[in-house]
Amino acid sequence: MTQPQTARIALNRPLRRLFDYLVPGHLELTPGQRVKVPFGRQTLTGLVVKTNTQPPEGITLKPISETLESWPALPDNTFQLLTWASTYYQHPLGECLFTALPPALRRGRAAELKKDEHWYANATDAALPANAHRQAALFNIVRTTPGITSSALVHAGYSRAQIRALEQKELIAQRIPENSKLAAPEAAFPAPELSEAQTQAAKQLPSDTKTFSASLLFGITGSGKTEIYLHYLKTRLQPDEQALVLVPEINLTPQTLARFRRYFGNRIQVWHSALNDSERLSTWLKIRNGEPIILIGTRSAALLPFIHLRTIIVDEEHDSSYKQGEGFRYSGRDVAVYRAHLNQCPVILGSATPSLESWHNANLGKYNLVRLEERAGNAKPPELTLLDIRSRPLEAGLSRPALTAIKETLKRGQQALVFVNRRGFAPIMMCFDCGHMEECPRCDTRLTYHRRDRAMRCHHCDFQMAASATCPKCQSENFKPVGQGTERTEETLAEQFPDTPIVRVDRDSTQRKGSIQAILKQVNSGEPCILVGTQMLAKGHDFPNVTLVTVLNADGGLFSVDFRAPEQMIQTLLQVSGRAGRGDKPGKVLIQTCHSDHPLLNALCQGNYPAIADQLLAEREAGQLPPFRAMAILRAEADTMQNSLQLLDTLKPMANVPGIETWGPLPAVIARKADRHRAQLIFVSDNRKQLNRLLACLCQHLDQTRLPSNTKWMVDVDPQETG
Ligand code: ADP
Ligand code: ZN
Ligand code: ZN
Repeated sequence: MTQPQTARIALNRPLRRLFDYLVPGHLELTPGQRVKVPFGRQTLTGLVVKTNTQPPEGITLKPISETLESWPALPDNTFQLLTWASTYYQHPLGECLFTALPPALRRGRAAELKKDEHWYANATDAALPANAHRQAALFNIVRTTPGITSSALVHAGYSRAQIRALEQKELIAQRIPENSKLAAPEAAFPAPELSEAQTQAAKQLPSDTKTFSASLLFGITGSGKTEIYLHYLKTRLQPDEQALVLVPEINLTPQTLARFRRYFGNRIQVWHSALNDSERLSTWLKIRNGEPIILIGTRSAALLPFIHLRTIIVDEEHDSSYKQGEGFRYSGRDVAVYRAHLNQCPVILGSATPSLESWHNANLGKYNLVRLEERAGNAKPPELTLLDIRSRPLEAGLSRPALTAIKETLKRGQQALVFVNRRGFAPIMMCFDCGHMEECPRCDTRLTYHRRDRAMRCHHCDFQMAASATCPKCQSENFKPVGQGTERTEETLAEQFPDTPIVRVDRDSTQRKGSIQAILKQVNSGEPCILVGTQMLAKGHDFPNVTLVTVLNADGGLFSVDFRAPEQMIQTLLQVSGRAGRGDKPGKVLIQTCHSDHPLLNALCQGNYPAIADQLLAEREAGQLPPFRAMAILRAEADTMQNSLQLLDTLKPMANVPGIETWGPLPAVIARKADRHRAQLIFVSDNRKQLNRLLACLCQHLDQTRLPSNTKWMVDVDPQETG
């Protein structure tokens, strides 16, 4: 009798194990292929991990129900990448593998596109009743846009019923369009013309796209890094090859996207969280089919099943949004570098403020450092000045000299930007009689006051309540907002400059679809205005008429417990400063602070990021912190702090391994968040392999331990936040 064939299957479950199934005789399987399997009373989508396995003894296995397609959804290189990431980040393989599938394929849908209907008008004008305005408008759209799809019409606000009604009246009909598949693969635009400094930088990038190399393009703000990427892709990428361009947040930079489209036309595709399921499936299939696309995407794009990937670019590589903050806590940037290595292709990391990790790798010679320290065109680097605000009168946080500078900027017909690091009206509501401050009932934090809708909101959980006019404790009317948020600064500026448009940019003002585009349009018109916003304004924007940047308060990161805080503060301040003077007119930056003698802020004003990075790296080395040692955090959260600490206490002895240092367990800085009590155990080691083995051991142990109900744990490798 022949042995029955078995296979090991990964499921999209947070379980650190795979599942064995029998392979029916007629099925041929390859790793990475999608199958349907029975699981309890359900049928689930699975991914084949291994075939021809040794069936475990004494267990009756169920057979795989069917294969979903004959080819592997995850080709070999993508499969290897995710397997590596699962081990590196100690996250269950099943969930890692499924991250590379679009939602429709995770749910077991067919890997093909639903055919969209394409509509054409049958007549040049429609005999419709005079009051049928919507139908007439719909007909007009179809007449003037032959071949428009049902989904585009629905997107434009028409219902499928309205479309059907016109079809029944035989005013419009469906037809199969000309082949729409990548019809114009690439615009005929030649490579961009580079300046002398850009040419020198471009020359130092690798010409070979068939071997691994990592380059760090350190280009100051406004130096034209995008031009370098475009030039590189235009001159190095072959017409049949794929490229990946990772960006921190795609919705914020429609300008960058437009620039890529101008040079590469339909070859440019995008990937980000705002796409709907069918858009994702469509783009995913193009990538998996090896179409020669250049994908511009956020971090999860690094995991997609590319077939002919020959160049990877990571723009703004220092940006903390590359690290996923929950579940599979991978870094899109680090995965991209590993992928380039696996794929034997170049990776280019670009930034005006490189992460200390990448700067360190450049110092070690692991990354090829390319410097571009001149602004493009006629633009000059902005001039930075510290403005000590101790004992100066302030108007909602703005000093007189800052207000005067804004006024002069507007008078010259230019635009000013005010950077405030908090959204909402004020971070604190306080009673000046009894000292009461409004706190979140579920977190160890204060509630932020949002005046627009008179709400108190927690920025750490979803709690909100109506704001009260008097102190809830002593009923005093002396109950007032303290501190500055974007709404308050916006209000003060509106009072001071009643004739100037004030544009606020933060998470609240950009929530609605299309609102950021409207905002950018107004700013790009070049008319005098004042932009007020959070770090959203710091990211990648190119506003040629902004000549003054004011930082309301620079002191946030100076005294934080998080060892990354100074690095992040400097990066944000330099990035936001970099929005000033990008056009022909010179830019000025005013940084308000209570610590104008602080060495870090003074170094910042020299604008010499390499010197600051070396200084911060020296401090990291002295403290034996990353990137000089590897770090991982084991977090616990439970209904009580005691349960969290107890769990971590039991693990601490297991970590008593030479070469590994353990800190804690300690409560997190925000010890209670959404009524969960959080504690953490931090591991540091100069031996990453050993640290990884320890984490694997701890995970295995925890998986087999019965925990008190509601107690959870998670591992974070290379954490971005240590508070
Ligand atoms: P970075 O990303 O390095 O901050 P950008 O790529 O946004 O800078 O470029 C800054 C500005 O300079 C853009 O408006 C861009 O069009 C312009 N620019 C870039 N390269 C050149 C060049 N070679 N000649 C003229 N203008 C350029
Ligand atoms: Zn009170
Ligand atoms: Zn809260």
